[in-house]
Amino acid sequence: MTEISYPTPPDIVAGTIPAATVDREGELKSLARMLGFDRIFFVNQIHSGIVLHCENSRIGQDGDAAVCRETGTLLGVFTADCVPVLVYGNGFIGFIHAGWRGFRENIFTHFFSSVPENPEALHAIIGPAICGDCYEIGPETAEFFQPPELSRKSDGSFHLNLPALAHHTLLTTGFLPENIFLSDECTHSGPMQLHSHRKDGTPLRNISFIGVKNGYISQDQR
Ligand SMILES: [Zn+2]
Repeated sequence: MTEISYPTPPDIVAGTIPAATVDREGELKSLARMLGFDRIFFVNQIHSGIVLHCENSRIGQDGDAAVCRETGTLLGVFTADCVPVLVYGNGFIGFIHAGWRGFRENIFTHFFSSVPENPEALHAIIGPAICGDCYEIGPETAEFFQPPELSRKSDGSFHLNLPALAHHTLLTTGFLPENIFLSDECTHSGPMQLHSHRKDGTPLRNISFIGVKNGYISQDQR
């Protein structure tokens, strides 16, 4: 089974795994059971700027980012080319789902304005997404972006580097470079076998997950 795990403190569990079925809730539940979490949280991703808080939202409510201060809840974000970002520190865990529409809707700004303001204490994991070489966009989409994340090939086509854009956005937000982990996996070109909607139109998604065990959150708030 393909599974990516990320460097995190011992009480934080974070990784990415390609789902075997389209049952998002079922997939996340069985992952949670396997990893020893009691509860799950995910959102109905709609390429918006909406941030949900797991303590007062329904599972599967419309949104594209989540913030959670509970231990024992496994958060999951589902992607197949869009960029998944997992965040932890400062007494919370969370995720952001962003494709070009999410960036246009300022999902990162909405996320970071709904959490305590000291980004230098936060850590982020940028999970596997489609790379800049593989991701061609139309001229009408290119209008929203700028170099160097937007590039133009010799044949005139526009390409957008979503992981680089996420990285740049986190640095602009005030993250320390050493606190950002950037995956070098491309969902479209590998080397791992991950789901890519661009490649074959699959309805399957890669699940990027994050959860906290044993009171890491409360320790952090002291
Ligand atoms: Zn690629």
